[in-house]
Amino acid sequence: MKTCHRFTSIKSGFEQDVRVLRGHAKRHQGSASAKTSTTTAASLKRNMARALNRHLERCPECG
Ligand SMILES: [Zn+2]
Repeated sequence: MKTCHRFTSIKSGFEQDVRVLRGHAKRHQGSASAKTSTTTAASLKRNMARALNRHLERCPECG
């Protein structure tokens, strides 16, 4: 599947956020804020899937 520049930037933006949150969770293992980071990372992943699907539906360049 061919994807456009916009698709890549949406994906990499989310992935960067997820990486930051996971890194935080790892450094602060067992703490409340680590737990929050893990939860946020999981919901970000869902948001990413939704955003990318929405993009694919509309984008003339992807597919
Ligand atoms: Zn696209």
